[in-house]
Amino acid sequence: MAAIDPCNYDLHCHSTSSDGVLTPEAVIRRAATNGVAVLALTDHDEVAGLAEAAQAAREYGIRFVPGVEASITWGGTTIHIVGLGIDRGIATLTAGLEQVRSSRERRAAKIAAQLESLGIAGSLAGAYAYAGNPRLIGRAHVARFLVERGVAPDVATVFRHYLVRGKPGYVPHQWADLADAVASIRASGGRAVVAHPGRYKLPRADLRQFLGEFKRAGGEGIEVVTGSHSPGQYTEFARLAREFGFLASRGSDFHGPDESHIDLGRLPSLPADLKPVWHDW
Ligand code: AMP
Ligand code: MN
Ligand code: MN
Ligand code: MN
Repeated sequence: MAAIDPCNYDLHCHSTSSDGVLTPEAVIRRAATNGVAVLALTDHDEVAGLAEAAQAAREYGIRFVPGVEASITWGGTTIHIVGLGIDRGIATLTAGLEQVRSSRERRAAKIAAQLESLGIAGSLAGAYAYAGNPRLIGRAHVARFLVERGVAPDVATVFRHYLVRGKPGYVPHQWADLADAVASIRASGGRAVVAHPGRYKLPRADLRQFLGEFKRAGGEGIEVVTGSHSPGQYTEFARLAREFGFLASRGSDFHGPDESHIDLGRLPSLPADLKPVWHDW
């Protein structure tokens, strides 16, 4: 794979199999149009879109990396772990993901009940109407319904005023365990990577403790260049990748043309001295 321009890797994005707005096939088509050579589809807690994406990747001539974005809870903080290259024994992952997906259904009902008590009716059915996969419900689907209701002009604004800690519609949730998630990604032949580590607002000491625990659990990489990081955070997490000896990943976290400020394959390159997560692919 040495001939692939490092700008052509996009290893984090979503489809209608979780909370993206494009089907897996449409994600692949858009990636190909944007010049992506190697794409990972990483839907939240779900692998159901991978087969369609792999098939489309063959048609559009791009290399496909089967992935997932697992939700975990670490010390009370929700953290996302991307699994890349889970192309062997995906069955070892599915039981854990299935549990997380059912817990999402219970959380969605609680979110809807809370919104109902605030005078916003119908948000459970409303959210499911936006769910391309009825087995995977998330806050983004609720947010789209709230936009439809005119509660906020767009999804980003919803997430400033609703559904987050301290705001209406927030329901604390217990996700999977860090060690379990990393172990099942590894058992499926994948490489575990911390998604957008700059987004968790962890105090510095806690962030370092987390990265240490992640590494001891078998985690191998962190996202350095992601649509969720500022350029200053590229530098910060490049430094942490060097210090902890993590492989570096790069991914847009694309959810859809109108919801993501970074399109598929449109990120800067990784700093040249970092070892990319794809170094031995
Ligand atoms: P969930 O996993 O159901 O708690 O939802 C997390 C998802 O909500 C993220 O992957 C995004 O798709 C969406 N989300 C969270 N915060 C924001 C935000 N500030 N702006 C836009 N989307 C967001
Ligand atoms: Mn999402
Ligand atoms: Mn995420
Ligand atoms: Mn994501």
